Amino acid sequence: MDKVRAMVQIEGVVQGVGFRPFIYDRALRHGLTGWVLNDEKGVQIEVEGEQDRVTAFLSGLSSPPLLAVVERQRVSYLPPIGYQGFEIRSSKVGEERLALISPDMTLCEDCLHELFDPADRRFRYPFINCTNCGPRFTIIEDIPYDRAKTTMAPFAMCAACSREYHDPANRRFHAQPNACPACGPQVKLLDNGGGEVPSADSIQETLRLLKAGGIVAIKGLGGFHLACDAAQEEVVARLRGRKYREDKPFALMCKDLEVIKGICVVDDGSRELLTSKERPIVILPRRTDTAIALSVAPGQGTLGVMLPYTPLHHLLLADGLASLVMTSGNRSDEPIAYANTEALERLGQIADFFLVHNREIHTRCDDSVVKPFRGRPTLIRRARGFVPFPIRLPRRLQRGGTSVLACGAELKNTFCLTKGNYAFLSHHIGDLENYETMRSFEQGIDLMMRLFKIEPAAVCHDLHPDYLSTRYALGYAGELQVPRIGVQHHFAHAVSCMAEHGLEGPVLAVVLDGTGYGEDETVWGGEFLEVTGMAYTRLGHLRTIPLPGGDRAAKEPWRMAAVYLDRVYGQLEGVDIPFVKGLDLAQWTLLRQAIQANINSLLCSSIGRLFDAVSALIGVRLLTNYEGQAAIELEQMARQGEQGEYPLEIAEEEGCLILDPDPMVAAIVEDIKREADPSLISARFHNAMARAIAQMAIQMREVTGVSEVVLSGGVFQNHLLMGRTVDLLEQADFKAYIHHQVPANDGGIALGQAFHALCLLKEN
Ligand code: ZN
Ligand code: ZN
Ligand code: FE
Repeated sequence: MDKVRAMVQIEGVVQGVGFRPFIYDRALRHGLTGWVLNDEKGVQIEVEGEQDRVTAFLSGLSSPPLLAVVERQRVSYLPPIGYQGFEIRSSKVGEERLALISPDMTLCEDCLHELFDPADRRFRYPFINCTNCGPRFTIIEDIPYDRAKTTMAPFAMCAACSREYHDPANRRFHAQPNACPACGPQVKLLDNGGGEVPSADSIQETLRLLKAGGIVAIKGLGGFHLACDAAQEEVVARLRGRKYREDKPFALMCKDLEVIKGICVVDDGSRELLTSKERPIVILPRRTDTAIALSVAPGQGTLGVMLPYTPLHHLLLADGLASLVMTSGNRSDEPIAYANTEALERLGQIADFFLVHNREIHTRCDDSVVKPFRGRPTLIRRARGFVPFPIRLPRRLQRGGTSVLACGAELKNTFCLTKGNYAFLSHHIGDLENYETMRSFEQGIDLMMRLFKIEPAAVCHDLHPDYLSTRYALGYAGELQVPRIGVQHHFAHAVSCMAEHGLEGPVLAVVLDGTGYGEDETVWGGEFLEVTGMAYTRLGHLRTIPLPGGDRAAKEPWRMAAVYLDRVYGQLEGVDIPFVKGLDLAQWTLLRQAIQANINSLLCSSIGRLFDAVSALIGVRLLTNYEGQAAIELEQMARQGEQGEYPLEIAEEEGCLILDPDPMVAAIVEDIKREADPSLISARFHNAMARAIAQMAIQMREVTGVSEVVLSGGVFQNHLLMGRTVDLLEQADFKAYIHHQVPANDGGIALGQAFHALCLLKEN
């Protein structure tokens, strides 16, 4: 049989994931000659041999190694040239860089086994890894992805590690972070003054301290966690006190799935998420009467839980502790600490001890948070395990290789860079309100631009002039001398959902959130739009109402409750419900005067603030300690199975649909007077909102003829509302799209900005 030579170009996540040894192994198995190498687009292969063997080899490429993601594979045939053997050639450095980089990956089964095998040379070594697992994104400084360009550079491999590294048949062939106890990073236990705590085994000693009720800052993959025994109420309460975190829930890391099943309700979909290679924090319904301290998540019907994902975590949880609080190592609003000296400085007042190591973290990266919706993930925070893997955009947007930078919003910031049909949405940066976070944002942009060699042809930003991301975008666009593209906040939300689903519209969009900069000098947040990738029309919105005190209204839900009552009844006196009786009337009078004088009270159409108002009215939460608390607690208390609902009205004013919640507020007040249970009122309120959204969609369809609806905005993290809304929309023959790949909250905004910019640039 005649020989053929096939040239194969593979793009995707194929570097640093054991792809070349896999190819090597397959080529030998099929008796083929040729070579494989990493180039800057991915992996290049040539194989030579008989046609049927080449064909068999090619079809075997469809089941690549665990962490590899093949995005594109091209095969062309050339005349054979008589290769003698098969070899792995050294990397080729070309002009075009688009090798995708793997996220940090959870410890694999093989390494886990070796970790606890007394006969293995890496027995109990906390930095064991291989091509299928270990750090990637957080240690990489530049590409191509080689050890010298990672924070592993200072560690010279010993002879044994080096042999593995150079052996194509070995699981550690070209595993850049490869290390062992003889040559690799080490852990060290420090007290909070930075002094070393003497012990034979720092990990065992840490474990002893945790069991004894200590709070330990533990350096992980993307930063420090603050850890303590989740079963000790007094210790968890102490951690809360020191962290100045009153009741925002702490995440837990549990020994194994069995432990999680004991404290939470775990269905098949949730189990899949918990054990997925991303190993995120998964928010699950909690069981009652568990050993978990109540102050882990006060007043919550859910717990955020995750499984161990580094060897160090496995070692800590192997001997006697079932669940650890593992909360971000930061003071209240700062980003997570990731360098040893910085952690000692910033967390010294919180942690008693520090378990550190000497492998540096180049990029800080938080744990990802997901919440299952009908068996599928929705993201609350997209970071470790997901980033920097791109979101794929429709190929038709790829014109002339134009790239854009989108700077995102202010809270829960992420930024987004595009190249070709890839959108690289950054890891969760945080709230851009202090120097540390702003620096992360800038360094993150710089790193991603280098890693993927991106030169933006435009810089996108929110319309809010005071967002630090907006200011940065305006300045940076000036520096680069490229156009700036301002994108309305809720339009960006809608487009982010379209981008995920490859839609270019027109679609209808229901975007519900706290606040975003509107285009008519009001604050938006309950928006009903018709959207294409290019533009939007505001077809409707929640009736506007004063937002007294701007951002303070979000922290003090009583304000919105009072404003709603005032509108419905003309005054609060005589509204005979506990909320009004408990109100500080002097304070309210001042606030009312400020509103009437138009002082610091813009009009808003925010659904988030409507949730706050209802929460306060029925006595759930008058003041909040963290963002969204009033709405979250309102959702959790809703009685299941309740079918009642309240009336809302839809009016048409100047061609715009106005959703009027006043009849609902009045009906809620009547229920309160009747002493209806708050759980019933909450359920009826959710039902009413879902009904109103569906009704708005129906009226929008009458005008536009469009029956595809995207749902976006932080309010849709409320799955009670989302589930009911999706059901009602589907019953009315709509196709409803929700977020699965990026957060519905402001963490998804940058993707929408970028997608819109690409649509614009494609047209011009
Ligand atoms: Zn491994
Ligand atoms: Zn070694
Ligand atoms: Fe928003």
